[in-house]
Amino acid sequence: MPLDIPGATHLHSGKVRDLYEVADGRLLMVASDRISAFDHALEPGIPDKGEILTRMSLWWFDQLADLVPNHVVSTDVPEVVRGRALVVEKLDMFPVECVVRGYLTGSGLLDYQATGEVCGVPLPTGLVDGDRLPEPIFTPATKADLGEHDENVSFEQVVDTIGAESATALRDLTLQVYARAEQVARERGIILADTKLEFGTRADGTIVLGDEVLTPDSSRFWPADDWEPGRAQASFDKQIVRNWLLSPESGWDRAGDAAPPTLPAEIVERTRDRYVQAFETLSGETF
Ligand code: ATP
Ligand code: MG
Repeated sequence: MPLDIPGATHLHSGKVRDLYEVADGRLLMVASDRISAFDHALEPGIPDKGEILTRMSLWWFDQLADLVPNHVVSTDVPEVVRGRALVVEKLDMFPVECVVRGYLTGSGLLDYQATGEVCGVPLPTGLVDGDRLPEPIFTPATKADLGEHDENVSFEQVVDTIGAESATALRDLTLQVYARAEQVARERGIILADTKLEFGTRADGTIVLGDEVLTPDSSRFWPADDWEPGRAQASFDKQIVRNWLLSPESGWDRAGDAAPPTLPAEIVERTRDRYVQAFETLSGETF
């Protein structure tokens, strides 16, 4: 799976991205065209997805630059990964997935239904799937190993892991980033339901925003005009794929053991268009 990139040593591959070490102890983060749905990696990839998400992440890093420093060093990358990779500072990452939710769905909804709380934050009774929360909440999770689900934890557990000062700083930054991004997206007709950020520190202790930011792979984007609490919301990027997989046409049984079938060319093409549309709508730039 890793590419043979001159001057780069492969370190790690996630579901979608590959990480390499390059000169001066820096990292090369490469976004592939891989896509997953219902926790399965799908075939084939979506052409240009890696490049589109890389541009989206870069665009957001710029929008957030006055709130928090970020790890981006350069877009000058080896030819084989041009456009879909970034050279970044190697940070000492906090072992915390900094999730913020403005709306209730996914694992947050499941926790709420079981306990009335998400990550120790009590919520009003009677909320349903897709409801807007009274205010955005910080719902951290621990990083799980490949193939495992992240586990939601309380703020106190984050304090126990990284100390009160860092935990508070991460929570504040995460909420600030969400407030900014949610407003930008809203003005463009897109609801940012939730997102996951990762932070690390430089040698001098400065907290820096790392990883990818505010891409459809790290966030839930919903078309605002389709929003209707009480049911699953349409996903801005993956709905076409999900609908096809669940349709009789695909012949796939979600509850079964079999891997999903190969996506038809038309579904791939329409999904690519969605990623382009997401990028262009949010950034106002042309892909
Ligand atoms: P998943 O596909 O579920 O996200 P994963 O987290 O293992 O799995 P990636 O997200 O592709 O896979 O991995 C990127 C890794 O790089 C993460 O462990 C992330 O914490 C780490 N990382 C991101 N930015 C930096 C950075 N600036 N310095 C060091 N590590 C970083
Ligand atoms: Mg990751």
